[in-house]
Order: sequence, then C-alpha cells, then structure tokens
Amino acid sequence: MNYDVIIVGAGMAGLSAAIYASRAGKSVLVLESVVQGGQIINTINIENWPGDFRVSGAELMQKVYKQAMELGAKIEFEDVEKIEKLAKGFKVITEDDEYETKVVILAVGAEPRKLSKKQTDDVGKRPISYCATCDGALYKGRPVVVVGSGNTAKHETEYLKNIASKVYHIHHDDPIPKDAEAVFVAIGRVPATKKFAGLVNLDKNGYVVAGEDCITSCSGIFVAGDCRTKNTRQLVTAAADGAIAAEEAIHFLDNVI
Ligand SMILES: Cc1cc2nc3c(=O)[nH]c(=O)nc-3n(C[C@H](O)[C@H](O)[C@H](O)COP(=O)(O)OP(=O)(O)OC[C@H]3O[C@@H](n4cnc5c(N)ncnc54)[C@H](O)[C@@H]3O)c2cc1C
Repeated sequence: MNYDVIIVGAGMAGLSAAIYASRAGKSVLVLESVVQGGQIINTINIENWPGDFRVSGAELMQKVYKQAMELGAKIEFEDVEKIEKLAKGFKVITEDDEYETKVVILAVGAEPRKLSKKQTDDVGKRPISYCATCDGALYKGRPVVVVGSGNTAKHETEYLKNIASKVYHIHHDDPIPKDAEAVFVAIGRVPATKKFAGLVNLDKNGYVVAGEDCITSCSGIFVAGDCRTKNTRQLVTAAADGAIAAEEAIHFLDNVI
C-alpha cells in the first residue's frame, strides 16, 4: 500500500503530525511498535499541558489518538525495523509488512536506558521494570531495588516505599542486593534511533540532527519530538515539532517531488 506520509511512532509528536498531515488531505499511516500514546502514558498527573490541568498521560494521549484517527489517519501496531530510500520515496519495513511512502516523519521518541552488562549479569533471572507505577503493586510486601541517581529514581523509590517490604536505592553500577526480588531501573532515556543511523545524521548521543524546521539530512525524511536534537523535551515541544514536521512534509509533497 502506498501512502503520502508514514509516521514512525504514536507518541505526542507522531500523533500531532498525523493530525496536521491528515487535515491537509494527505494519506497518513502511523506505525507504532507498542501502544499509542508514547512515554507519557504512565504519568498520572501532568500539570504543564496548557488547557488541561492535572490530566493523566493516558487520558490526554487517548484524546490525541482519537482526534488523529477521526481526521483520517490510519495506524498499524508494528515495529519499524528498516527504512530504505527508493528512486522516489521510501520503503518502510516492519516485522510483518512493507509499505511505500513519499515521505517519512520519524517520531520515535526515547526509551529507557538499559543496565550495564555487569549489573544485568547481577540481576540474573529476576524481573526488571522501568515503571514503578505500572509494576510496583506486583511486589507488595517484598524487597525491591531502584537503580539510578536522578529525580525519577528518587520518585520511584518514594512510590515503592508504600508497597514493598524494603526498598534499596542504589546508583548505576553498584552491586544489586541479593535479596531484592525485582529491579526498578531509572537511569535516564536514550533516543530510539539506532535503526535509522545509516539513513539520517545522528549526533554523538543518537539524536536525529535537525533544527527547528525538523528537516533531516535525508531529503524526504522529517523528525519530530524527543528523538530530535534540541534542548527542551516536553509534551508541548513534541506537539510543536509534530505540527512543523507535518507542515514541512506537506510543502515537500506539494512543491518538491
Ligand atoms: C516519567 C516521565 C514523566 C514526564 N512528565 C512530563 C510532564 O509532566 N510534562 C511534559 O510536558 N513532559 C513530560 N515528560 C516528557 C514527555 O513525555 C516527552 O517529551 C514526550 O512524551 C515525547 O513525545 P514523543 O512523541 O517525541 O516520543 P514518545 O512519547 O517516546 O513516543 C515515541 C513512540 O514511538 C514508538 N517507537 C519507537 N521506535 C519505534 C519503531 N522502530 N517502530 C514503531 N514505533 C516506534 C514508541 O513505542 C513510542 O510510542 C515526561 C517523561 C517521562 C519519562
């Protein structure tokens, strides 16, 4: 199936791009590897999204998703494994399928940073979680450990103290306590861009290099949201990027190719 625009990622950036591109009359497919909504969906209380004070991430993103779908965008839940440049447009290859499109918007966001090899070996067969709110209740009355030094790790530790029998709070690369039954990891996030390294320029931290116009080094590929080089990674900037990337993509479709 051929599309005008394929958007990789259904977080705030990808879904905002889908809203703008669909309203401009373009055929839009969003490809999402996990679930619509992106990294914000486990956050209970968002206080800085203008117009919706103290909304939950899940509720906010469900509204944005519904809006994009009602405006005509389609979504498939497939992990994009590879994008190939064709003479005209691109082939987007997922685990199950292949799609052709005239332009691509990368909105793949960021994923949790994984433990070092040494700590992973230490963990052995014990479960690893990246979200205390999602999985904490599974360890009621049992000892757990939180790995990480930043604010998120502190927040996860406080949250788990109300549930677990004991919460160890250790730093990246400290030994994992032997009696902890589950390991909660909060050591930052990394852009989910590895698969696109040969296609667009990435900076040394893996972010897709682009300015405020969201135009990448590859003609016909645009980038939006947390996976782009920028200083402020928030919902409003992801939404803004989505709009800008879509507008640039529309201009490219109407005037360049
Ligand atoms: C705990 C936490 C709390 C936060 N709180 C706030 C807050 O209160 N206010 C605020 O403004 N911001 C907050 N943020 C930041 C905000 O969540 C992000 O800036 C924003 O969600 C980024 O949106 P995005 O669309 O760029 O990326 P993401 O939300 O990361 O979405 C990217 C999507 O792409 C998908 N994807 C990745 N790779 C592929 C692939 N190969 N194929 C298909 N799909 C793929 C992912 O599954 C994901 O759904 C918070 C972040 C975290 C982690």
